[in-house]
Amino acid sequence: MNQTEKTIWIEKLPLLTEIAEKREVLWRNPLNGDSTVGISQSGITANDVEDASNRLKRFAPYIEKVFPETANSKGIIESPLTSIPKMKESLAVKFNTDIPGKLLLKQDNALPISGSIKARGGIYEVLKYAETLALEHGLVKESDDYTKFAELELRNLFAKHKIAVGSTGNLGLSIGIMSAKLGFNVTVHMSADAKQWKKDLLREKGVTVVEYADDYSKAVEEGRRQAEADPLCHFVDDENSLDLFLGYAVAGERVAAQLNEQGIKVDNDHPLFVYLPCGVGGGPGGVAFGLKLQFGDAVHCFFAEPTHSPCMTIGMMTGLHDKVSVADFGLDNQTAADGLAVGTPSGFVGKKMELLLEGCYTISDDTMFELLTMIADTEDIRLEPSALAGMTGPIQTIRHQVTFADSPTATHLVWATGGGMVPETEMNMYYGIGRARTEGSGK
Ligand SMILES: *Cc1c(COP(=O)(O)O)cnc(C)c1O
Repeated sequence: MNQTEKTIWIEKLPLLTEIAEKREVLWRNPLNGDSTVGISQSGITANDVEDASNRLKRFAPYIEKVFPETANSKGIIESPLTSIPKMKESLAVKFNTDIPGKLLLKQDNALPISGSIKARGGIYEVLKYAETLALEHGLVKESDDYTKFAELELRNLFAKHKIAVGSTGNLGLSIGIMSAKLGFNVTVHMSADAKQWKKDLLREKGVTVVEYADDYSKAVEEGRRQAEADPLCHFVDDENSLDLFLGYAVAGERVAAQLNEQGIKVDNDHPLFVYLPCGVGGGPGGVAFGLKLQFGDAVHCFFAEPTHSPCMTIGMMTGLHDKVSVADFGLDNQTAADGLAVGTPSGFVGKKMELLLEGCYTISDDTMFELLTMIADTEDIRLEPSALAGMTGPIQTIRHQVTFADSPTATHLVWATGGGMVPETEMNMYYGIGRARTEGSGK
């Protein structure tokens, strides 16, 4: 984008000035509307999501067998939905804003196997690829007991196939762990700045880790190029994958069941506000889509991004999606929220969400760290920085007088997207940063 184009966009959308100044902002999507229209225009149907859900059910006996930590849920990979009343009180004090409704935390940090939201989409995509190969080779039928996938015949088949992904973080962990468990030849392409503990953990599980001196997008590009040249290699494409999206979308029916179990109503008089940390967009997009299928216009979904990396916010505001980057507005994409450090959003997801997303907001790294320490202190829950981005959602919507956000019958659901794999020493360092910033700001 050249300087003239940038000036024209800023004149048209003055909020972009505040975004370029890295201020914490809320943007309301003027195209958000009737969810039945948005869903039908997306081209994705309830049947597609149900198909994904059924596939995960077929695999549940296998998952339970090879990941015994999923025994409680019989091989269904799901996380708790937790009420956080003490955090709600502390938030209200810190931001001097009452939250009259309920505050719930969706604890994807506690998802088994890989401790982040990527255990939804990432694992689903690997399982689907494995099933497709097994069906093609006539080695399973859908009606079979899928514990078969742990047997040598299938493992030998998968050993001849490759899976590749470019990721410095949680997607690499999910794809790597699941693929290696099935017996695939799996490669995670990582940039030089990827954390050492992630590389060590993956190599320990038998994953090939390729490191690049260049930045993340170079690692992805190179991974994609190598995979495309090899017909036996499946490349997991974070920016364009329908399977990832569908794996995430299954969360909708799971959350609906959990709310129902907890006796929490969702309808037009009891609206549900959901705040989803957003990187490239697949995770939050898929989850929001699944929730829209369940609750229609009674659910209001917001994406949360770092002030230095508001790629989806800019992409949606301008409608340019993957044709615009945060650098076009002078932003450096530098954030400690590494799951959200993305400069260009997924165009695939942005277009699907055009009529379904209520809005986006941004949050500074300082605020994320302060909230990380606050939820550890109040609720004894340890999250990674990215997972805190949703936490200012209720404050933002209430302060901006989003209809019903301040209603006592509203439920605010903050999606805590990760933290379960972070080593304790790293987590203690995060906690310390938040502690120091809280004391520094005198709160
Ligand atoms: C990946 C990730 C996200 C965002 O998901 P996208 O699909 O990249 O938008 C948010 N939080 C954490 C912890 C993540 O790992």
